[in-house]
Amino acid sequence: MSTSQEKQGSCLCGAIQLSIILDDNSVAACHCGMCRQWAGGPTLMVHSAHPVRITAGTPRLFSSSDWAERAFCEQCGTHLYYRLKQGGFESVSVGVLEGDDWDFNLQVYVDSRPGFYCFANKTKEMTGAEVEAMFS
Ligand SMILES: [Zn+2]
Ligand SMILES: [Zn+2]
Repeated sequence: MSTSQEKQGSCLCGAIQLSIILDDNSVAACHCGMCRQWAGGPTLMVHSAHPVRITAGTPRLFSSSDWAERAFCEQCGTHLYYRLKQGGFESVSVGVLEGDDWDFNLQVYVDSRPGFYCFANKTKEMTGAEVEAMFS
């Protein structure tokens, strides 16, 4: 897919409905310690420069660092999205979005990945330092 499209999503209980405009169907895994504690394992997210649009309900926001916040449903606990507070970078849990036509093509914070799992998918890989250099 090369043209941007709007994907719909919802939490497990349905209280939160959202949509996000995506430029492609790429999915990235994050192995950082905060994601693994937040989600119980590596997060699988889609990225967009467009803000998440909330169409029903009000997500709870957790300020997880000085620069980012994480949104979840306070009724069912579904992890919804991660975003930079300054804007311009939104990361939505792929599991909350409709469909499964995704291209898993990137893993980040690979140097934080613990030894007890690994993905067989052939993806691009970036260390935490490489990711942080991209944003600074
Ligand atoms: Zn919910
Ligand atoms: Zn992470």
